Amino acid sequence: MRSAERGWIGVAGGVALRAVLAAVVTALPAPLVAQAALSGAKADVVRGVEARAKLAQVINDQLFSYAELGFQEWETARYLTALLEKEGFAIDRDIAGLPTGWVARWTNGSGGPVIAIGSDIDGIPKASQTPGIPWRQPMVDGAPGHGEGHNSGQAVNIVAALAVKDWMVRTRTPGTLVIWPGVAEELLGGKAHMVRAGVFNGVDAALFSHVSSQLSTSWGQPSGTGVVSVEYMFKGESAHSAGAPWRGKSALDGVMAMATGWEMRREHLRPEQRSHYVISDGGDQPNVVPSEATIWFYLREQSFAAIADMLKTADDIADGAAKMTSTTVNRRLLGSAAIQHFNRPMAEAAQANIAAVGLPRWDADDQAFAKAVQVNVKATVTDGLETKLAMLGPPPETPKSGGSDDIGDVSWTVPTITIRYPSNIPGLPGHNWANAIAMATPIAHKGVQAGAKAMAMTIVDLLTKPRLMADAKAYFRDVQTRNQRYEPVLTNADVPATWLNTEVMTRYQPELAKRYYDPQRYGSYLEQLGVKWPTLGSGAAE
Ligand SMILES: [Zn+2]
Repeated sequence: MRSAERGWIGVAGGVALRAVLAAVVTALPAPLVAQAALSGAKADVVRGVEARAKLAQVINDQLFSYAELGFQEWETARYLTALLEKEGFAIDRDIAGLPTGWVARWTNGSGGPVIAIGSDIDGIPKASQTPGIPWRQPMVDGAPGHGEGHNSGQAVNIVAALAVKDWMVRTRTPGTLVIWPGVAEELLGGKAHMVRAGVFNGVDAALFSHVSSQLSTSWGQPSGTGVVSVEYMFKGESAHSAGAPWRGKSALDGVMAMATGWEMRREHLRPEQRSHYVISDGGDQPNVVPSEATIWFYLREQSFAAIADMLKTADDIADGAAKMTSTTVNRRLLGSAAIQHFNRPMAEAAQANIAAVGLPRWDADDQAFAKAVQVNVKATVTDGLETKLAMLGPPPETPKSGGSDDIGDVSWTVPTITIRYPSNIPGLPGHNWANAIAMATPIAHKGVQAGAKAMAMTIVDLLTKPRLMADAKAYFRDVQTRNQRYEPVLTNADVPATWLNTEVMTRYQPELAKRYYDPQRYGSYLEQLGVKWPTLGSGAAE
């Protein structure tokens, strides 16, 4: 493994060296000039990000207030595309069968690299939470909320892209910036469709941003899993549950037989697998034998083959359950995410920028608030916000299991990295109202600034260092995809599950709309909500 990698560095270095030599031959003083211009460029885009701190806060708080679930990111899409259109980006709407999907494109000059800059935009069910309140206090009872922090990533990307755009115009640097949203990431519902629809055709490199409590990046296969999200829809025959139950065939029995079958099989699966389900339709009422019932699984594993195996196992169990209960069963794919693999040269370039940016300078209020939250929610760490920057290590030799992200599909399509930025508090449960608490506070805003600076500097690297781009492509071609290929679960018959979350958003949107952030009237969303910063304590005495 080690020697193979050293070999690769040698080869890629050789290719890049030739490129550098060619450049020297055509314009002798270029290397020196480029060196000086580069540090200037980075200082320039960092200033551009700082000058847009207000815009970043507004985008972040606005999306927080929309609190939209996957496939229903209507307000988010309308707001972001209007903003980008005003900034001169050409917008493609309704892309890849995703009505809330879009792509914003801006080109300077002709030629130059095409950089795709993405981040997720969807929320978490029942995670509505008043920001800046360190205990459970929903804004709207039962409503969704940004309990993952996906309200912040487009603030990072847009502010970074606009800073870079100004600099590109001033310096006549050719290239194309492509901004795109991760639609329905929590349902693993968007990116595989975007890949299949060719959104990343012609893209040279993809930079993704994701909320975290650290400023970091990684290369290789990280811990975590790929996933297939699939529902099994059983059909039976209704009857009077008391009067003539023998005439019925219960679809719910089929669902429960499948769940029981899965639980027995679970012991004989690899410990690294993760699988979970909900019964999304259990019938109508007890005195009617359920003629229809549906069970929805997330099946997660760490290789393309293992994911396909799990899906086959689930299909077999579903067939068995249908046979046991004299029902029929159909399968429908709702989402999928490939395992992830990130680009080494790009991660190393980004890490240098991350080191230059550093973690935000948290003040005493930020730390006191973070600690209050950690105590209240029994966080796994209780010492406040991160103050020590993470190093870029090699990928784990044995990746641990865990969650998935459909950026995996993009990572097998073009050289890709994720830049994680410190907008949230360490040690929280994830996919939970607690993860929304900090996401429209100074903590989120400072984290977005740090992320946007690292993002902008890395875009500059990709635009100005042909050697980096060549190395990134060489890694993608010769290392990442040498023995492993992208094997999407998606078939041509599968369409985005855009019907999901329609009812929930219809129910809650009118109440949420009353609380949408109004940046014309309020300096921040906390100010609009009348939340004092920092609010401390446990809420018990209130
Ligand atoms: Zn996420």
